[in-house]
Amino acid sequence: MSRAIPVHAPLRPVFPGGGMQAKITRLVFVSVLLTALLLSGLGLYVVYATVREHAAATHPLALRWSGESLRARLEQVGPELERVARDAALQTWVADLAARPAERAAVPIEVLTGALVQSVTFEGLLVLDVEGEVLAAVGSGSGLAGVRELLRPKGSFTAELVDVMQAAGLRAELGGVEATSMRVVDPVEVPPLPLVSVPLRSARGRPVASLHGIVRRDALASGLRADLVGHGGNVLLVDASGRIVAAGRETGRGSAERLPEALYQDAGAAEPRAILSARRGWVMACARPAEAFGWTLVAEVPLQEAFRPLLLASPGFLVTGLALVLLCTLGVSWAARRLVLPLWDLLQGLREAARGNGFSEISVGHARAEGEALVTAFNAMVQRLGAKRREIETSHRALREQHEAFQHRYEAVSKLSITDGLTQVPNRRFFDTQLQREVKRLSRTGESLVLLILDIDDFKRLNDDFGHAAGDEFLKQIAGILKEIVRETDLLARFGGEEFVVVATGTTLEGAVVLAEKIRTAVAEASFIVDDTMRPRKATISIGVAEFRGSRTDLFNSADAALYRAKAAGKNCVVVFGEGESDGGGREG
Ligand code: GH3
Ligand code: MG
Ligand code: MG
Repeated sequence: MSRAIPVHAPLRPVFPGGGMQAKITRLVFVSVLLTALLLSGLGLYVVYATVREHAAATHPLALRWSGESLRARLEQVGPELERVARDAALQTWVADLAARPAERAAVPIEVLTGALVQSVTFEGLLVLDVEGEVLAAVGSGSGLAGVRELLRPKGSFTAELVDVMQAAGLRAELGGVEATSMRVVDPVEVPPLPLVSVPLRSARGRPVASLHGIVRRDALASGLRADLVGHGGNVLLVDASGRIVAAGRETGRGSAERLPEALYQDAGAAEPRAILSARRGWVMACARPAEAFGWTLVAEVPLQEAFRPLLLASPGFLVTGLALVLLCTLGVSWAARRLVLPLWDLLQGLREAARGNGFSEISVGHARAEGEALVTAFNAMVQRLGAKRREIETSHRALREQHEAFQHRYEAVSKLSITDGLTQVPNRRFFDTQLQREVKRLSRTGESLVLLILDIDDFKRLNDDFGHAAGDEFLKQIAGILKEIVRETDLLARFGGEEFVVVATGTTLEGAVVLAEKIRTAVAEASFIVDDTMRPRKATISIGVAEFRGSRTDLFNSADAALYRAKAAGKNCVVVFGEGESDGGGREG
């Protein structure tokens, strides 16, 4: 029965670098991020190109129309001031002044204030005498307020305005103005003031005073076509030093702010350019000479404004993009895990097999397509392997059983071939082989070896007296006694007929004689039941003993000779070869 590995086996990153799932996830994260960045960059470029194209189409148009409008406006301001100068009351005052210059009659202020209230062009009106001294000044508005602000610490508006004129080097010029003209008063601290001047002449045409109007900035600004530049864009009128004289849209800039030179210096270039302004960031701008007072018209649109609708510059877009990238990566990571799970299960299965636990089927779990096919193939292989293994095990078992049976039989046959069938002690063949081996060993080690030849006394008679079967029984029982006495390490065998041999190794001749005596005594003292009469019978043996001295033949002949002497000496005794031969005696129990 196969054991299924649970699908949710621990999926820990055991591989360097985190395995396939982590690799796929990293790869997808990087590629998605790169794609997102690339697309964002491409989007940015497309928007930039669009903005630039739009600017190229609209800015020059806005500038041209603004320039024409400005010129028309400036052309009107002279005639408008001339109309004020022709006012009857003012003309009367001029005539009076021409007639009695010393009296200096008061300027009819109501004429000036009346004209100013009706005018959309002027924010201040001044009357100067020919010396340039201010005789009257009316007005409000930012331009004049700027001048007032500038002059406040000096206490006197009229006198100080003259100082401003002087500072601008205009006093004499303004006082002695002879024809309608335009100029700019530039007090530096405030935006430049466009000024229109007309002479006030006596009846005979002699200038006796002059009238000056400060042109409203909003009058100049109203012609600037910021609407054409688009949302967030503007058309600015700047003087030669970069100060803003008027703006098509409210700029919210301080009066002292100067535009970066790059914005207006290259006036007339056809192409709009992206310019980095310290205060406004990147703007797309285009400039053109205003054709008045060295001023320039600048059309600009902040790039930030243009990009805003696409969220590209906003943190929201970034957060959304990043969230999408992360979401995508998480999704892929999840999918990669699903892909890797069956591989992991397979690996677990293989590892188990490698540990020697055998192949086990694994669960298909969430595997799909190739993963499922892989797991199915693995399981099919496991099943086939299982069947094969069972087959092999069965035949292996049968083989082992056969082998064991054969081994048993072989051992039995082997034993039979070296065992004497009657006495169950080793036979002569075994004895010969063993003795040969022992002799070889002794020649190396130099140990001693003693041979005992045992012969049952008068065995022929025993056979004759009690029968052949009883003779066999004697042989068996005497062999039993021998087996008990002789040590395992010594070699005992039936040599033939009623003769046995014992080879004692590692013992001296004296030790062997002691053994021989022990055997002889044991047999002599034993009683043998050998037939149905159950009467105990006696038997004796004679033993010839000889020591090995280099030749096997000599060894046997010597032991045989000793045995012969033992028989001759009356049997039931032990004779050692070479001992007491002169007296013909042996040892006897
Ligand atoms: P001695 O004391 O001089 O040895 O006299 P002995 O009678 O033992 O000597 P001998 O060698 O002449 O007789 C041996 C007899 O042993 C001859 C044979 O009948 C008998 N014999 C030999 N092998 C067997 C056997 O396997 N079974 C039986 N029952 N008798 C055997
Ligand atoms: Mg014999
Ligand atoms: Mg005998």
